[in-house]
Amino acid sequence: MGTSVGRIKKAIAQLPVPDPWDCRRFVEDVAELRGRPIILLPVGILGGLASPCGLWLVREHDDVIIYEDSTSEYHMDQIVCHEIGHMVLGHDRAPSSDTGLASDPMFRSVFPDIDPLTVRAVLGRSDYGNGLEREAEMFATMVMVAGGHGQRGQNFRNVLFKQR
Ligand SMILES: [Zn+2]
Repeated sequence: MGTSVGRIKKAIAQLPVPDPWDCRRFVEDVAELRGRPIILLPVGILGGLASPCGLWLVREHDDVIIYEDSTSEYHMDQIVCHEIGHMVLGHDRAPSSDTGLASDPMFRSVFPDIDPLTVRAVLGRSDYGNGLEREAEMFATMVMVAGGHGQRGQNFRNVLFKQR
């Protein structure tokens, strides 16, 4: 656990975390760093595709983050940052990623505008394993605290990021 927290802290220290917190700007800046656009795609109901942490579509020229837009803004930011965590921490190198879901009829009915042929991987909760899920969740919490977001605010932030 200790090493994982250190790795996440290091990753966050290299990112431009907006202060005051601004999720959209954060996503744009991370996309620029990665040299790949990140598209945020809120959907009404993920239904049978449900994944409590959203979905990450790796496409040839961009990344798509899919999440339910029915929850609170804080929760949506948390989901988006969780997926950003998977990206920044390189979790798509996990061996189990595959494109199977993109050609699933249910997927196609929810996302008619996404051509399955452009999708290189669809990554949801079941693709990472618990260790990587916990890392992504920790990343989301820590990055939002670094940006001054969250109920615990400034004090907690000073504890986590004394040097900033
Ligand atoms: Zn996840």
